[in-house]
Amino acid sequence: MKPAMMEYYAPTGLDEAATLLAEAAADGGKVIAGGQSLIPMMNFRLVRPPVLIDLGGVAELTSMEVTGSHLSLGAMVTTATVASSSLVRRDWPLLAHAATWVGHDQIRNRGTVGGSVVHADPSAEMPAAMLLADARLEVRSATGSRTVDAADFFWGYMSTALEEDEILVRLSLEIPPPGTRWGFREFAQRHGDFAEAGAACLLPPGGRPRVVAFGAADRPFRAAETESALAADPAADAETLRRAVSRDAEQAGVADRAKIRLLAAMVLRAAAMARD
Ligand SMILES: Cc1cc2nc3c(=O)[nH]c(=O)nc-3n(C[C@H](O)[C@H](O)[C@H](O)COP(=O)(O)OP(=O)(O)OC[C@H]3O[C@@H](n4cnc5c(N)ncnc54)[C@H](O)[C@@H]3O)c2cc1C
Repeated sequence: MKPAMMEYYAPTGLDEAATLLAEAAADGGKVIAGGQSLIPMMNFRLVRPPVLIDLGGVAELTSMEVTGSHLSLGAMVTTATVASSSLVRRDWPLLAHAATWVGHDQIRNRGTVGGSVVHADPSAEMPAAMLLADARLEVRSATGSRTVDAADFFWGYMSTALEEDEILVRLSLEIPPPGTRWGFREFAQRHGDFAEAGAACLLPPGGRPRVVAFGAADRPFRAAETESALAADPAADAETLRRAVSRDAEQAGVADRAKIRLLAAMVLRAAAMARD
């Protein structure tokens, strides 16, 4: 299958892109980033945007920098860049590691961190990492800008707080304190497949542990009970953590016992990786 006919625009600035989207959004017009999710959906005619606005030429969306205590990523930074960047590997090694789990080289070379976050697949690594990082998402329309916390961004299966005329511009992540330990594990049938369950864990020295689970519910979620168990006892045993994960998963609406067991195994491994 090939996509239905559409008009194609290639703006070179953010203002121009936002204006084009303001005109096209009401009729289903969309921006396209790496196209690694949108093009397959268009090929299968799951979506038929009459207008495509290509963000590939918008330079404002490709920068990556450390400003003060934050790592700032333009939405069009590719997953391959996130995985290989010395900046990200130094300041947010968990994010760089998580990016290596996204699909294959070809997908990572074109797919973008912003595209993955907006696409909001519940099994995707980048949304989970953004939730773990408490990232702040800067979004922009023709009428203004606003900032959304990652905790408020993911609404459900491929559903987010982004309005249809808004563009995700930038993601800002506070850099964890020195000495922060981290772990990341996921299970997929084959390398490069979407995760069937995964977990990311951050253990800041003297701070509250943070744990995010993904691939199990309709969106990634913070595992608050598991975080409390690790806060109460950083060396919490496997059975204690399994019970905590089970409660977290049930609160997130996961009913499948096999899925919960798999998720618990991933959380235990991520926590062990962080503690080792
Ligand atoms: C074979 C295969 C395997 C894959 N495996 C994985 C995997 O294991 N893990 C994983 O996480 N992903 C996986 N993916 C998906 C891949 O990571 C996609 O690249 C990603 O989900 C979307 O990023 P993109 O830049 O390609 O976005 P696009 O496909 O261009 O866009 C996706 C959606 O986001 C919107 N969008 C994009 N950028 C913006 C923006 N800045 N502002 C507003 N809206 C925007 C688009 O309008 C569209 O609705 C896989 C894809 C394929 C084809």
